[in-house]
Amino acid sequence: MGIVVGIDLGTTFSAVARVGEDGRPHILPNSSGETTTPSVVAVREDGSILWGDEAKESQLMGDANAASFYKRSMGESTYVERLQNMAFDATDLSAIFLRNLLADVSAANGVEIDAAVVTVPAYFGATQREATQEALRRTGVRVLGVLNEPSAAAYAYGLTGAGADRTVLIYDLGGGTFDVTVARISADEIHVLASNGNHHLGGRDWDAILTDMLLEGLCEGLDMDRGDLDLSLSDLGTLAVLSERTKRELSARPRTRARVSVAGATGTVEVARREFEEATAHLLTMTTDLCEETIAEAAESLGRPLAWADLDGVVLIGGSTRMPQVAAYLEEQTGRPPLGGVNPDEAVALGAAIYASQLAEAEGDSPRFLLGGSAPRLVDCTAHPMGMIAESPDRSRYVNSTIIPKNATVPASESREYLIPVPAWGTGRLEVYVLQGSEPRPLDNDVVGKYVVTGIEREQGDAKVRVTYSYTENATIEVSADQPALGRELTVERAEVEGDLSRFDRSPLENEASEPACAPMRVMIAIDTSGSMYGRGFEAAHEAVRGFLSSIEGAPVEVGLMCFSDRAEIIAEVGTGPEKLLACSDPEVLREANLGGGNTNDPLRNYSDWYSGQERYKRSMANCLLLLTDGVWSMPACQEAQQISQELRKENVMIIGIGVAYADPEFLRSISTSDSYAGLFDFSQLGETFSTIGRSIASGSEIRL
Ligand code: AMP
Repeated sequence: MGIVVGIDLGTTFSAVARVGEDGRPHILPNSSGETTTPSVVAVREDGSILWGDEAKESQLMGDANAASFYKRSMGESTYVERLQNMAFDATDLSAIFLRNLLADVSAANGVEIDAAVVTVPAYFGATQREATQEALRRTGVRVLGVLNEPSAAAYAYGLTGAGADRTVLIYDLGGGTFDVTVARISADEIHVLASNGNHHLGGRDWDAILTDMLLEGLCEGLDMDRGDLDLSLSDLGTLAVLSERTKRELSARPRTRARVSVAGATGTVEVARREFEEATAHLLTMTTDLCEETIAEAAESLGRPLAWADLDGVVLIGGSTRMPQVAAYLEEQTGRPPLGGVNPDEAVALGAAIYASQLAEAEGDSPRFLLGGSAPRLVDCTAHPMGMIAESPDRSRYVNSTIIPKNATVPASESREYLIPVPAWGTGRLEVYVLQGSEPRPLDNDVVGKYVVTGIEREQGDAKVRVTYSYTENATIEVSADQPALGRELTVERAEVEGDLSRFDRSPLENEASEPACAPMRVMIAIDTSGSMYGRGFEAAHEAVRGFLSSIEGAPVEVGLMCFSDRAEIIAEVGTGPEKLLACSDPEVLREANLGGGNTNDPLRNYSDWYSGQERYKRSMANCLLLLTDGVWSMPACQEAQQISQELRKENVMIIGIGVAYADPEFLRSISTSDSYAGLFDFSQLGETFSTIGRSIASGSEIRL
């Protein structure tokens, strides 16, 4: 049987660890005996793959077919890396790297890996987490779980300290990203109180400033103008490598010398740590500002004041925390040196291994004895507020309406109510665009999903719909909705987020003016063609159809025609154009319908048969049966119509019953949607009556006959 591991899939380096027989987490070194492996992938001309150290070496030699830092673009559909003319996204590159890394550490340590926990930055949203899991899945290793990097570090740290509760700040400065977390760590619980991150701040930015200093120094030494240096792409690559190396040297000694040779100019530049620290002080300040913000948020979560001095310690993670100014600054703030005992390069993988072992145990794996007890339980928090796009109360703009706040304890479930207009006929729908972020303008946040809520029923005034977000341990959002006033759960279905969301930059009122006033409606007009309609009746029915069609012009209303007498027939399908409908309702044509002369047929039955044969999406739209009759139907037809009308109304089909001459208004009311949806009229009034009905349908307003 294989083992479970924790994987730190880092921006620059990655590491794999497991909990050993001794109950402690250990790094599984790669086949070169290294505890960390560069997260680099390259493709050779013959299509074969280089990865890790070899790929990094190749990249340093200027190989353009090598990729690194792809983790920063995880889950981004626009990120494509072209290696030997093949396109790879960040998930592809991560999967290739992980497959090789896992095969290598398995062989080097004589183990088989079955399942793993993979770590991600706390600020990663659902899409980036899913992309990371997908990369691991493609290696054939089962995904046990996803763990936030600072939480993993807290696990590793939790094991080194004894007993009492401590509030610690986890400061993670890597090659390309910065993450800060405040957590309470006790023997049985790691409670993450607040998290923040800047994924465009890391060792690379320090390197860039050092590059600048080296070029400044070179030009000064050679007495030349900076503008005269014509740097090539390969010069920039050389400088990046040199700056990174020089930066590391400055971490070890107060001054160092670098030999710079670019664009035909060569010289030795001496750099002092002090100068470097001064030139990069603003970068350090960016991290400390974010620390302060996080401490303030943690105080809010705790419900009591919290200051630097109240922290029991700072845990340093990430290669860039080896720069002495980081520890010095943090010591100055807290009054004590950062907590030791955690290797900044290994802590995340070690913590992930503990968590993996804990999850495997929960699944029934034999328990491991962790330092005299079991590993603490993890209580994580949300790194971003999660909301939805809503209209401002004055309908002048769209806003980001937060449902789950930032730093909410996970799993979290929160609800918010929204007022939704529902047309007089049919039901309303609501589109929920899930936003991740705190920016007021919706499109400045990540739109991480779309859900459609249907079947919203009318209430007094607008319907009150409660939207609930449930945030799971895997940082995915589940959306549900209900109508509290009616005690009804609503149907919520996931939908594709469309590419063009620019309408959310316009005002809701503006959009309303350019969008149809009502949802699509499908109307079947059923005309009585029994003998008594001959002559004047058919003329009036034709006028009625004409009146209806002219009043719905431009509205998304589709119309069909049915004739009934002793039998029934659909003479124009719903969706037929107005000209054809007018031709079909011509008195001559109606006269030739030839469906018998009496009223023994129940047209609701025919409509119901037709309706149930419609595709599902058509049935889910608003549907209407508009009946015109001039007499009393046979008793069985009436009874059946009353029963079928109940069934159709349950399906939200709107039924309107218009009578002329000898029709029974009482019966028509009994089969219509409501009393105001039925009435008895004069032949001469039919054109106007049908126009009124058409106007109400086109504007989505109540029908009052
Ligand atoms: P990580 O993403 O945690 O692997 O961190 C990689 C970053 O740490 C890179 O920017 C490295 O240049 C930086 N780094 C590693 N060692 C040192 C060091 N001794 N001094 C300064 N920066 C370092």
